[in-house]
Amino acid sequence: APVVVAIDGPAGSGKSSVSKAVARRLGYRYLDTGAWYRALALHTLDADVDPEDSAAVIGSLDAFGGAFTVSLDPDVTAFTLGDRDVTDEIRGPRVTDVVSAVARVPEVRAWINETFRSLIADVDRPGIVVEGRDITTVVAPDAQARILLTASEAARMARRSAEFESHPAGDVAEQLQRRDRADSRVVDFMNAADGVTTVDSTHIDFDETVDAVVRV
Ligand code: C5P
Repeated sequence: APVVVAIDGPAGSGKSSVSKAVARRLGYRYLDTGAWYRALALHTLDADVDPEDSAAVIGSLDAFGGAFTVSLDPDVTAFTLGDRDVTDEIRGPRVTDVVSAVARVPEVRAWINETFRSLIADVDRPGIVVEGRDITTVVAPDAQARILLTASEAARMARRSAEFESHPAGDVAEQLQRRDRADSRVVDFMNAADGVTTVDSTHIDFDETVDAVVRV
């Protein structure tokens, strides 16, 4: 079985870029679980399904599963829905606004988590870095390395605002807080579970954070 490195944390903690860098350093695959929730949210919007309508979202899972493809290569970020490249669109505000609504449906989480477990089991490399909110606790609680990546709220907001230069900083901060509040009602990613190592990136730079994760 592949070695699993599980990384959880709130929005803006630097999870994605750190996880990718760790995967590259170790020659592992990389799975961005948030992208799945985002792509499902986009799929429901495209199908005129109300993301708040859980039954309709559950009903769209099989079609979504047949249409969505991902790259597990940390050097190639590519997500497609049918024949459409949705890599940029799933990061946009339209999706970010509604993603928490689809992610809080228990049947959605169960379906997606099964998909993750079979992807992980089929990995063709020595290991895989899996990143999200409930990887250390639900998706891969037996992972060889389990990390909670945190940063102060101020640091997370500053990073997100820098990413979205075109948006007013206040909007970015407010959206991030709102999403973390909604998401943490579903899974606790603000506190490390038993056996999970916390890496706080507030006062260290990107390379130091990657080093700290690799050491775990
Ligand atoms: O990590 P990212 O910000 O791309 O995640 C998008 C959304 O997907 C989160 O706000 C959350 O609602 C959901 N998510 C989740 N569980 C995960 C990963 C993401 O509920 N493991």
